[in-house]
Amino acid sequence: MKVKMILPALAEAESPFWRPIKYSLFPPLGLATLAAYLSPDDEIDLQDQHVEILRLDDTPDLVIIQVYITNAYRAYHIADRYRNQGAYVLLGGLHVTSLPDEASMHADSIFIGPAEDTFPRFLEDFRRRQPKKIYHSDVRTLKGVPPVRRDLIRRERYLVPNSLVVTRGCPHHCHFCYKDAFFKGGKSFYTQKVEDALAEIERLPGRHLYFLDDHLLGNPVFASALFDGMRGMGRVFQAAATVASILDGDLIEKAAGAGLRSVFVGFETFSAENLRQSNKKQNLERDYAQAVRRLHELDIMINGSFVFGLDHDDKDVFRRTVDWGVQNGITTATYHLLTPYPGTPLYRQMEQEGRIRTTNWDLYDTRHVVYRTHGLTADELQQGYDRAYREFYSWTNIFRSSWIHPSLARKLQHLLYTGGWKKFEPCWNFLIKTRSLNRMLPLLESVLETVKHTHPRSATWGMAVDIKG
Ligand code: SF4
Repeated sequence: MKVKMILPALAEAESPFWRPIKYSLFPPLGLATLAAYLSPDDEIDLQDQHVEILRLDDTPDLVIIQVYITNAYRAYHIADRYRNQGAYVLLGGLHVTSLPDEASMHADSIFIGPAEDTFPRFLEDFRRRQPKKIYHSDVRTLKGVPPVRRDLIRRERYLVPNSLVVTRGCPHHCHFCYKDAFFKGGKSFYTQKVEDALAEIERLPGRHLYFLDDHLLGNPVFASALFDGMRGMGRVFQAAATVASILDGDLIEKAAGAGLRSVFVGFETFSAENLRQSNKKQNLERDYAQAVRRLHELDIMINGSFVFGLDHDDKDVFRRTVDWGVQNGITTATYHLLTPYPGTPLYRQMEQEGRIRTTNWDLYDTRHVVYRTHGLTADELQQGYDRAYREFYSWTNIFRSSWIHPSLARKLQHLLYTGGWKKFEPCWNFLIKTRSLNRMLPLLESVLETVKHTHPRSATWGMAVDIKG
């Protein structure tokens, strides 16, 4: 059987002339994971429009397309085209799960929720020529999931080919997040077996890893065993975690000991009212600055995530957020405009209140104001967001935040990392175009390793923090 697997480009990444580096970081792991269920006799062509021009003149038997909100129209267009020429088309992903009626107009079958249990069921049905229109995921486990088909990934086209996911979902329930919508009807947070995760790591060449898990520290027992197993492997890695998981216990020390060098942290907002409104309880009454200090003492760089446009934001929120990030030496900041994704509690609330301004999904990229704002006008919000990015990544602020760190090595590491990401886009674009992006991986590894861990914190430090509360 000829199988085509496609990740269409997100609307914000569609220009063939200009490709921001952030869209050439990670390969399409979800599709490569599903490919592992296909037979060795199947002929699989996996294409990622973020790093290649799609070839649509082939004649596959089965087409599988992963749909996000801002690639939905492109995905539907591709799906319609293949269906017209007689291929069987399967759609799955976050947007399909959020809006199954919309997606099913462009598919022969759709998947609702994660596909690790539904895809094997579908394949059986398909081979018996009795596929169903809708597949709901109801068994939530990663036990027995075959190894990702990394042989299908064109490693040289990505800066971070060694990305991996060892958990699914997250233990929290923020109202603006897709997570609960995607995992509705079953467990919304579960992990691989530690030995399977370690085996997957062993399979990856080189030193650098990027865990794409929503919250790598979300299950402390699993994370602790994973970090114990990784100790001594000589890896350097990046991952995501919550403020609470950084402040509590000694898990973050274990992560640092296993090679954690940079962490994505969802600070989102400094307002308790905004946190309550978003059901982001895990951040309430948490000392963000203390979390930052703890990470810096472990020489872990920070990518802080912040959301603008929550109902209790005022005109000053942009300046306060940028200043806080600079004064606390945050390495990179990711700012988002609040986006009510369909299927989320936030979307339902805004819909009930008549606040959804557009359902043009291409605009749901966290850079456009798509709802009626409170407190700020839409223009103030848009302009404040644009200004926040400009100011945080001005050379003056990059130097100021780099120089917060005590050692010269850390100052330089911060400067190289932040400047490298945000000030050399034309160079990244050139590397993407010349397909030589992966040659920069040793440079990324050495920047992450600029600071040698000469003062590993012991568990005692973490316990002392706990005791002090
Ligand atoms: S902590 Fe992050 S991943 Fe988890 S529900 Fe909240 S926003 Fe989603």
